[in-house]
Amino acid sequence: MKKLGFGLMRLPKEQEQIAIERSAQMANRFLERGYTYFDTAYVYNGSEVAFRKAVAERHQRSEYLLANKLPVWCMKCAEDAQKIFDTSLERCGVDYFDYYMLHSITDDKVEDLYKYDCWNFCRKLKSEGKIRNFGISFHGSPQVLEQLLSDNTDLDFVQLQINYLDWDNGVIASGKCYEICRRHNKPIIIMEPVKGGTLASLKPEAAALLDDTRSPASYALRFVMGLEGVMMVLSGMSDEAQMEENLATFDAAEPLTEQEQDTLKKVANVLLDSPVVGCTACGYCVKGCPMEIPIPKIFSAYNREILSSDGKAKYNKVTENKNSASACIACGACETACPQHLPIVDTLKKASEIFE
Ligand code: SF4
Ligand code: SF4
Repeated sequence: MKKLGFGLMRLPKEQEQIAIERSAQMANRFLERGYTYFDTAYVYNGSEVAFRKAVAERHQRSEYLLANKLPVWCMKCAEDAQKIFDTSLERCGVDYFDYYMLHSITDDKVEDLYKYDCWNFCRKLKSEGKIRNFGISFHGSPQVLEQLLSDNTDLDFVQLQINYLDWDNGVIASGKCYEICRRHNKPIIIMEPVKGGTLASLKPEAAALLDDTRSPASYALRFVMGLEGVMMVLSGMSDEAQMEENLATFDAAEPLTEQEQDTLKKVANVLLDSPVVGCTACGYCVKGCPMEIPIPKIFSAYNREILSSDGKAKYNKVTENKNSASACIACGACETACPQHLPIVDTLKKASEIFE
């Protein structure tokens, strides 16, 4: 199995809607080149239906592998798991998933996973042939990961956020979580290898450290593809150029040299010197915000201001018809939803001080 997975969270859009024909052409290109793995989720807005129209209605089921996820934060009782699963199957236009995982587990979601018996629900799906592999997508602490893998030894795989910037991060702890999965002998699927695009466009001091005949994103992908035990690397490709570049990187499958590994450590140090917000633009925070604040877009403008002092125009644009950062009432709903554990309320306050 070729190791690049097509993440469907950031499909190309036209007038705020997923562009189905462009997505279908990208999927065709991906399949033609021998890649087969697609990753969607119940909570990725419009992604499952886009998959059905762009892929499932145009290709045989045997041509592709499809991963999907159960979001415990959308459940109010144990019975909701079946409703969510059936909805996902219907939206995707398939009758089974190759990979199914408990979605975005953070430490505070673990209690609900047991309360609603999500573990046994997925085991039942597997025994019925509705899913082929059962795993978790994990954003919590190493201690909790260790506990979950010890208590659920039958998990087929673990999906982790791994990239060279988060490797030693005290909260994301990519490196420690990776080691735990290796010790438990679990195949690893990698998400956010480019940290939501952060490692694709580096600030000039960091980019200057890299060989400019290769893109910054290709270094980030080569960092993760070379790790032992990695089964798949997901990339949320949102245009054709990105896809071509990723296909070329994975076709070449060149591991990083020792010198390149050292250089990436230096790049990480330069990046860690800037107080940018580590937002991956996943959008999980937006749905529950009572003030409908465009949080990731504001953070993108904020990062631009920090890195190149030109975020104001972007900020004005993204808040044109929306509430601005100062509308935040500090209810905390967004911070509970954020898999990156970001201090959203405080950062919005800083953004409002800079921009308003
Ligand atoms: S804390 Fe602020 S930004 Fe977060 S959900 Fe509440 S109102 Fe929205
Ligand atoms: S603030 Fe957190 S939840 Fe919101 S988009 Fe960024 S990473 Fe995702």
